[in-house]
Amino acid sequence: MIDHRRLGRELDLFVSDPLAGAGLPIWLPAGAAARHAVEEYVRELERRSGHQHVYSPPLGKRELFELSGHLGYFADDMFPPMRLSADDEFVLRPALCPHHALVFRARGRSYRELPLRIAELGGMYRSERSGVLGGLSRVRAISLNDAHTFCAPEQVGAEVVEILGLIRAAHAALGVRPAGFRLSLRGPGEKYVGDDAQWARAEALLREALAGVEYVEAPGEAAFYGPKIDIQIVDAAGRESTISTIQVDFDKPERFDLSYTDSDGGRRRPVMLHRSLVGSMERLFAYLIEVHEGAFPAWYAPVQLVLLPVDDGQADAAADLARRATEVGLRVAVDVAGSLGARVRDAARRRVPYLGVLGAREVADGHLALRLRGGHALAPMPADAALALIGGQVAARAADLLPQG
Ligand SMILES: [Zn+2]
Repeated sequence: MIDHRRLGRELDLFVSDPLAGAGLPIWLPAGAAARHAVEEYVRELERRSGHQHVYSPPLGKRELFELSGHLGYFADDMFPPMRLSADDEFVLRPALCPHHALVFRARGRSYRELPLRIAELGGMYRSERSGVLGGLSRVRAISLNDAHTFCAPEQVGAEVVEILGLIRAAHAALGVRPAGFRLSLRGPGEKYVGDDAQWARAEALLREALAGVEYVEAPGEAAFYGPKIDIQIVDAAGRESTISTIQVDFDKPERFDLSYTDSDGGRRRPVMLHRSLVGSMERLFAYLIEVHEGAFPAWYAPVQLVLLPVDDGQADAAADLARRATEVGLRVAVDVAGSLGARVRDAARRRVPYLGVLGAREVADGHLALRLRGGHALAPMPADAALALIGGQVAARAADLLPQG
């Protein structure tokens, strides 16, 4: 049975320490290296598609979350407020939207700036009950890949289509295999804000954007402020969860009194789209660890190349080559302890994509004999060519360890 918690332990990716608290995992160096590579990729994808990144704090004044509606509609999922004095209370935020609304409001806005895409990989908190917590899949401290697009109502359709394209690109690069698309709609009950006409309009826009995509409708799964497109994954235990989402929100622009100056000089209210390409880093990695069984594509493998000198005679050459590999941006380790066979097995256990064996012959020739994860051995090649091969696959964020074709 594949379980990201067991693999996370075996591969030293993260640790859950009861002293730190349930649902508050700590990313160890190997897990942090993989996550860092993924974060860099996502940031670059967003930057290239016109997003602007911001930083905002993971807590804020109680009044901010009263205004946003979170304390009214979402308080059960939040940690209780922290009181510093009678009129000064803070809450750990359950979402980034309120801060991003303040980014929009930081100065006057013109129609020329729209769609304004504000992105952040930011911290937020949910007071999940301890019984449902486990590994990285359900946590209390969440690092969300998040963005909010502020746009004119007539721009919503094109923006949703564009975001769907970004989601597909990110899934392809990471190796995410979606289980299905879901249009999450209002259900019975009164936990929703906004009027019927707004909801109907938002639902129509999302249906339109999904033309040609196979999806199911899920009444009762909408956010409290609007309908959404959710992209679902299924973990190794068969549990379904949401990895990517696009939500239409007419409500927060009202609450925060957001407006922009239109081409005719009039004030208009923007629409706010909430979207996440790959969800939280925690849930994403819970999934990636399982779907790849710990054998990540080289570009986000914690260690991409392990160098194995056959004996002490090649130790200096291995250290020198490791420096060169580091200089060209690779994550490399040298393993000198134990028999060659044991070191090869250890690298395989750690799912290292490339092994470089250095014997006396290779060192004399300036060569490196590469072995790929899975056992395939390449003929010795000039060491620089070996580094270029690995660097090329990493730069291309390729799923395979060798160039195809
Ligand atoms: Zn949001």
